[in-house]
Amino acid sequence: MSISRRELFKLVGVGAVSASILSKPTFAAAERVGKMGAMLPPPKGNRVVICGGGWAGLTIAKYLKKENPNIDVVLIEKRTHFFSCPISNPWLAGLVSLDFLSHDYNQPAAKYGYRFVNGVVLGIERDKKRVYTNKGYIEYNYLVLAPGIRYNYSPWFKDDREMANFARINYPPAYIPGSEHLALKRKIEEFEKGDFVIVVPPAPYRCPPASYERAVMIAEVFKRNNVDGKVIILDPKGDIAPKGPGFRAAYEQVYLGIVEYVPNATIKEVDPVKKIIKTTAGDFKFTDANLSPPHQAGELVWMADLIAKDKDGRPTGWADQDPITFQAKADPNVFLVGDVISGVPYPKSGHMANSQGKIVAKIIANRIAGKEFKPPLPDNTCYSMVNGSPQEAIVVSATYEVKDGKIEARARTINERSKPLADATYEWARAMYKDMFS
Ligand SMILES: Cc1cc2nc3c(=O)[nH]c(=O)nc-3n(C[C@H](O)[C@H](O)[C@H](O)COP(=O)(O)OP(=O)(O)OC[C@H]3O[C@@H](n4cnc5c(N)ncnc54)[C@H](O)[C@@H]3O)c2cc1C
Repeated sequence: MSISRRELFKLVGVGAVSASILSKPTFAAAERVGKMGAMLPPPKGNRVVICGGGWAGLTIAKYLKKENPNIDVVLIEKRTHFFSCPISNPWLAGLVSLDFLSHDYNQPAAKYGYRFVNGVVLGIERDKKRVYTNKGYIEYNYLVLAPGIRYNYSPWFKDDREMANFARINYPPAYIPGSEHLALKRKIEEFEKGDFVIVVPPAPYRCPPASYERAVMIAEVFKRNNVDGKVIILDPKGDIAPKGPGFRAAYEQVYLGIVEYVPNATIKEVDPVKKIIKTTAGDFKFTDANLSPPHQAGELVWMADLIAKDKDGRPTGWADQDPITFQAKADPNVFLVGDVISGVPYPKSGHMANSQGKIVAKIIANRIAGKEFKPPLPDNTCYSMVNGSPQEAIVVSATYEVKDGKIEARARTINERSKPLADATYEWARAMYKDMFS
């Protein structure tokens, strides 16, 4: 296969970066990818390759097979097992075990008959309809990109990658599942005294209430361990949202003196070495922290060159897809699903990714069958734990409708915390895991 130097860099997701700053090993890696053989024989019928086995990708794989068992469905995921971000906050406070959050990829693949490839997607060539993985390339008829998010440290550290890495390792955001969550749990358990700062990323970002719920769960551990410490939330927003009154009541009634909420705290400077954060609401010195930089669509959308542009032609950071069909605007054979999407009032949530996944499975199956299909709009439900003892939660749910050509939300929030809502939180999670894994 002949492949240009520019194409090679795109394959490893560095298309926008000047070749002069790339190291020799990067070029060698790209060349290796370009020379790799096929991992699977070419598709005989219709093959749908799904990149990313998270909430969206797993749902699409299963429901595509349910729609039409003859579709050759390939799910590529780099993790060896699934770790759920939803319910990871109660887990931080020891309210559920790690088992509750962890699931295996093999069971649903075996049950529903899709291929699970435990591999890393390294490149995408849309003109050749090929996905390159560390195990070889795979050809597709339809491609789904559902890689979730990536962190964007450049507003904090410009192109100082070493500092970005230092911040990520020492003060993990824990918005991408895995080691970061384990590190955060250890930090909380070992915290002895002082200020624990949580930085809320600017919108749009994955799971808008996650940091507010996390503050509650960390405060719960401090309370239980009699820690002489405070959780300080630095929020660029002017107020807590969603479920503002519910969180505020928890901070003021259950965790008074332990949680401090600081609005309008847009980050001006972060110094993870000196442990100082400068914001528009003042400067903060921290003992330990959970530092979340801005979020963007995951790497694969950048690799595929499917990021939306603003009116000045600059990348917005999020995928450019049709709001109803999730089809990439630049490529009818590619679908962009889950947290990566833009231009719609949908929160970046697991429930939403699952709901979109079912719709996209139907859209692709009908397209393959040559049938007309009018897709419905997805829905969302999001519980947040606001008390650890006794366990109590609040909830927001939303349906969506098209009004005057625009998608609008109809949201319903219950801000009064209660035990039944805490029970419903776990029931919701069980139902979601069941939907994706059994
Ligand atoms: C603390 C926290 C709490 C949350 N709580 C809730 C909640 O209560 N309710 C709720 O609905 N949502 C919640 N969320 C949000 C939810 O986790 C996300 O919205 C959801 O995971 C998005 O699904 P996705 O499929 O778009 O991305 P993901 O679930 O992140 O899946 C993307 C997958 O792609 C894989 N991938 C990426 N790149 C590659 C590659 N190059 N090769 C192979 N694989 C790749 C990743 O490993 C990952 O498995 C929470 C999030 C956080 C951080």
